[in-house]
Amino acid sequence: MATMTKKKPSAKPAKSAKPSALAKPGRNGSALKAKSTKRVYFFGNGKAEGNAGMKDLLGGKGANLADMTLVPLPVPSGFTITTETCGEYNDAGQKLPAALMDEVRANIARVEKATGKTFGDATNPLLVAARSGAKMSMPGMMDTVLNIGLNDAVVEGLAKLTGNERFAYDSYRRLINMFGDTVMGVDHEHFEHELSDVKNTKGVKLDTELSTEDLKEVVERYKKVFQNHVGEGFPQDPYTQLERAIEAVFKSWMGDRAIKYRELNEIRGLRGTAVNVQSMVFGNMGDDSATGVAFTRNPATGENKFYGEFLVNAQGEDVVAGIRTPLKCEEEMAKWSRKAWRELLHVKDVLEARYKDVQDFEFTIEKGTLYMLQTRNGKRATAAAVKIAVDMAKEGLIDEKTAVLRIDPGSLDQLLHPTFNPNAAKTVIAKGLNASPGAAVGKIAFTAEEAEQRVADGEKIILVRRETEPADIGGMAVAEGILTSTGGNTSHAAVVARGMGTPCVAGAGDVHIDARTKVMTVNGKTYGIDDWISLDGGTGEVYEGQVQTQVSTQSPAYRKIMEWADKYRTLKVRTNADTPHDAQVARDFGAEGIGLTRTEHMFFDPERIHHMREMILASDTEARKAALVKLLPYQRDDFFGIFKAMKGLPVTIRLLDPPLHEFLPHHEKEQAELATSLGLSLEQVKRRVEQLHESNPMLGHRGDRLAVTYPEILEMQVRAIIEAAVECKKQRIAVLPEIMIPLAGTKAELDYLKKITLQTAEAVFAEKKTRVDYLYGTMIEVPRAAITADELAQTAEFFSFGTNDLTQMTFGYSRDDAGVFLPEYIKKEILERDPFQSLDIGGVGKLVSMAVKLGRQTRPDLKCGICGEHGGDPRSVEFCHSVGLNYVSCSPFRVPIARLAAAHAAIKEGKKGKK
Ligand code: ADP
Ligand code: MG
Ligand code: MG
Repeated sequence: MATMTKKKPSAKPAKSAKPSALAKPGRNGSALKAKSTKRVYFFGNGKAEGNAGMKDLLGGKGANLADMTLVPLPVPSGFTITTETCGEYNDAGQKLPAALMDEVRANIARVEKATGKTFGDATNPLLVAARSGAKMSMPGMMDTVLNIGLNDAVVEGLAKLTGNERFAYDSYRRLINMFGDTVMGVDHEHFEHELSDVKNTKGVKLDTELSTEDLKEVVERYKKVFQNHVGEGFPQDPYTQLERAIEAVFKSWMGDRAIKYRELNEIRGLRGTAVNVQSMVFGNMGDDSATGVAFTRNPATGENKFYGEFLVNAQGEDVVAGIRTPLKCEEEMAKWSRKAWRELLHVKDVLEARYKDVQDFEFTIEKGTLYMLQTRNGKRATAAAVKIAVDMAKEGLIDEKTAVLRIDPGSLDQLLHPTFNPNAAKTVIAKGLNASPGAAVGKIAFTAEEAEQRVADGEKIILVRRETEPADIGGMAVAEGILTSTGGNTSHAAVVARGMGTPCVAGAGDVHIDARTKVMTVNGKTYGIDDWISLDGGTGEVYEGQVQTQVSTQSPAYRKIMEWADKYRTLKVRTNADTPHDAQVARDFGAEGIGLTRTEHMFFDPERIHHMREMILASDTEARKAALVKLLPYQRDDFFGIFKAMKGLPVTIRLLDPPLHEFLPHHEKEQAELATSLGLSLEQVKRRVEQLHESNPMLGHRGDRLAVTYPEILEMQVRAIIEAAVECKKQRIAVLPEIMIPLAGTKAELDYLKKITLQTAEAVFAEKKTRVDYLYGTMIEVPRAAITADELAQTAEFFSFGTNDLTQMTFGYSRDDAGVFLPEYIKKEILERDPFQSLDIGGVGKLVSMAVKLGRQTRPDLKCGICGEHGGDPRSVEFCHSVGLNYVSCSPFRVPIARLAAAHAAIKEGKKGKK
């Protein structure tokens, strides 16, 4: 049946191979190819055409296979078809380049030479794996097909050659299943059904318990399944198998799952996936063979200890598929094979010395011989990443700057996540693996779709699955936590959750999940979609109900990495805080001042809002002043508390900003109450509310326009600030107030308000018989302010870029309405990202950089900073560094992120400078 015509490989097949000489007869196109593009890169026997630097062209897996070959580590020989070829394939409307298979045949010949085996030959067969591999590791693409090259004749030859008939048929049934499923799209369930049936008939539980005869039976049944669903027999020609597998890998690049994954992870600009064709080694050759996956250090805790799992007499994805429970290398491998364990420990050191980072690698042991099948930088939880970076710097593997650069600033979010209060009452209902740290509390959702829906409706969700798969990614992204009942620490759920920073407990065996009826059963107790559970990804425990959480504590490694970050950064980091409490939290996170105190938030307290409304409804200046006098002590106390918490660090206070109608009640019932308490008629209140109504409040009577029309408001606020500062001075607390005018667009506005500010401050100084230093400055929020910054700087002593409003006004996008159309802009790639989250460097950024330059032309020591959401966005922080701002200001929990991002900016700039 095997109709392969054997070809003698030429001695030097690679580049010089004449396509026509090796081409299949009758194949068109190859002869037309004038100059050949190199599409295939060989590796084997210590030599490789690729290396670790070629991830763009060879994909991550291919580049590292080549590189490990060069080390040399024992890598089964093979070759990589470039990502560019995948691009060509898709450009041509999903057609393989004509000459590709010729190059593949030439390289198969090289593999044959390296292994001494022949592809398709029944007496000494070469079998290969076809493995996808893009630049970034990417679940969602085609699964690996192992054992390509087997057919009815070869399987018998393999049995004879190895003296292991069972192994041969085990490999064959796996090929038919994998090829049928991943290449031809036959649902895996159909094969699984036959396998279970045979197991049931034989009364066994595990695949490994099946006899040779049983496996032959499985093969026959699989072939029928294949025939029935594909409409033709399982292809017997090895090259047909290989070509179809290669094409299927390319095709999967544009599959829905892969596209969705790239979208979610913002992976753009790649040409495609590579295909790695590699000679097989066998972990399923018997009890002296095994397959496994491992990390060179613990990816959950960062501990410098080998961390892996393996299965004896198994192949491929058995370890991660959760069919059998894998063994822990650290505990079991030495008992199984002392030699293998010693070799793996050696591999750990070799890999880390070469790649200077934690490696996540795959290996197979064939009859006692170790082979490396893959290595890549290991995904790790942030706490682990921090510990690993610090440890590696201390071990001398990397330097401090590299250690700092290793931590993604955005990921620090995870560390600042809450943990469970150790004193809270907890009822443990199940225990699984501590797959990804953190405390999570939510209601149960059984499918990813359901999770997405319910989170959109405002619920907090724990996604509960037997095992997750790439299609679940959307639900995993929105879940508070993830719980699975099968799978190990390297299962899909565990790996993805760690990457996302989502708490995860994996493989909790006591948990039985019926996604169809939406019932989770644990030791006889049932839980449904309305039940809360809590899980601790750091311990693997699952609790009933909502367990109380608390903010996390800072580890020594975290403190060290932040110490290094502070050493290298030049940009200061302040916080946005409106209360002494927030100010204190931010101080603990390392804030070096307050960049924005929003005074309006101080007026919403029930007691205060009343006086505020009285002020707004006042019919004349005298009445307004009388109401303001009542607000003064509240403001003064707030400012005093904040100054005290900041102990002499600069505190920027923004004077009243929002339109006044925001403070007034809009329902008649409340309006009536207000009227009674102020001795007014309901009509009077209603009229005033109506008067204050504006068509475009955000462009209306707000910001410094309020102070221009009602200077007494500014007077009260300035008086409160200065009185609080004077009080601090009297109590020997250092203070540095910065009075900030919002929304100014002209120098004249600033001049007018500065005069009143100075008069007010001087009056306080005279009353109190002492002085304090303070600054007078402005926010830059309207484009005109940025454009005339040289003029504004004559009056303003500092600038703070209010990039929320500046973005709104530069684009002309209403912040409150942009939600309607912005997502569509992002999806259609008209905007690369949401400009309200990440500063629009090309437009808004240009205004910022211009204003800084103009401002400093007038006032060389002009202090410039940024407040607004962008201050905590790592990308925006790097930009702020590059245009020479003095500081960024962000919410308290983002302060560490900004500190680290500022360090990244400084270190990267230093590196560029050296070149
Ligand atoms: P993934 O990208 O999903 O990890 P891989 O291409 O790494 O897919 O393959 C998955 C598994 O298949 C590997 O972990 C390994 O166990 C097995 N495998 C891949 N290539 C070979 C090979 N040449 N010989 C033996 N097993 C292999
Ligand atoms: Mg896979
Ligand atoms: Mg792999």
